Amino acid sequence: MGYIRPSSRLEAIPPYLFSELDARRDQVSKMGMDIIDLGVGDPDLPAPKAVAEAAAKAVLDPASHSYPPYEGTSDLKKAIARYYKERFNVILDPDAEVLVLGGSKEGIAHLATALVDHDDVVLVPDPAYPVYEVWAKFCGGRVVHMPLLEKNGFFPDLSLLDKETCSKAKLLWLCYPNNPTTATASAADFKEALDFASRHNLVAANDNAYAEIQFKHSPTSILSLPDAKENAIEFGSFSKTFDMCGFRLGWAVGNHEVLDALKAVKKNTDSGVFTAVQEAGRIALEEHMDFANSLRVTYKERRDAIITEIAQAGLDFRIPDATFFIWIRVPAGMSSSEFSLRLLEETGVVVTPGNGFGPYGEGFFRISLTRDKKRLAEAGRKIRGFVRKITN
Ligand SMILES: *Cc1c(COP(=O)(O)O)cnc(C)c1O
Repeated sequence: MGYIRPSSRLEAIPPYLFSELDARRDQVSKMGMDIIDLGVGDPDLPAPKAVAEAAAKAVLDPASHSYPPYEGTSDLKKAIARYYKERFNVILDPDAEVLVLGGSKEGIAHLATALVDHDDVVLVPDPAYPVYEVWAKFCGGRVVHMPLLEKNGFFPDLSLLDKETCSKAKLLWLCYPNNPTTATASAADFKEALDFASRHNLVAANDNAYAEIQFKHSPTSILSLPDAKENAIEFGSFSKTFDMCGFRLGWAVGNHEVLDALKAVKKNTDSGVFTAVQEAGRIALEEHMDFANSLRVTYKERRDAIITEIAQAGLDFRIPDATFFIWIRVPAGMSSSEFSLRLLEETGVVVTPGNGFGPYGEGFFRISLTRDKKRLAEAGRKIRGFVRKITN
């Protein structure tokens, strides 16, 4: 099949930076070294049992076996609207302002198809979840990176964008609580982004996958700001709040024109999410919000188990108030990749090099708290030993 040439579109996908690291991990593991993998962003704990049971029951109901409604079941859309009311005091019309997605990644990807024409500018944070950029490019858009700097609280400085960029911009991506930097956004931050969006007539999209994984502040939504629905939409996910990654269920809420455009793309792509999965999501939102409390406790304990060790190592990082990550500066004189590779080879601990999230991630590495407390403390001790060795 050597004569089949994939589309040139696929050249927009950035090179996979972690193949060397992955290969080394497999080698190191084969040599018998104990691997502690803190690289993955996939929760290690199961979804609430009652949610899985609700899904199983719904699978057996023949009513689930026909095509689901494209935009989501009425029951789930109402449950999402109720969640927004209770959690953020945001009123949503379940029919016009809520769209059910097959995981939020699916909607994040298709939003570009819905909005971006050739040469439109898409404003993408750097570092960031790679999907924003890849799909902007798939659609012929021009990606402009907005550096996330520690001195600005890892929020983009929108005043640095030039006039031409602003006039061509169609879409502004935000992600707060942020993966990978763990930063949260204040109401003032969101307001600045919304003012910018309305001044330049563009869509602000906040990826709120980590809404419920917060240790200090209550969860926030960009939609809770006045008039936010004029320019903004927000993505939500069942993956991190309820450990339901495998179910593939999420939502988009907010501006109804944007959601209509997204719906039009989806109508011609998928035919909705399996009704049984939507039923499980409804049960999760309506009956198991306390699960998020237990997750917050678990991740906070895990965070505390490892930060004591890495603080003693002299590493430079901010104690995260949200998400299940820690974003840490690499010791001076080493690149992200070099540090991650040597850490793996000498200790068996796998971390994610920051440059995998964009050029401004260089100089950092990310730890994921998706292992138990004991393993995290053990990983922390190994990191401490390694850092002591290389900085002496
Ligand atoms: C995990 C994650 C998602 C969620 O993806 P799903 O498709 O809902 O599983 C979205 N954005 C970010 C930044 C994430 O880390």
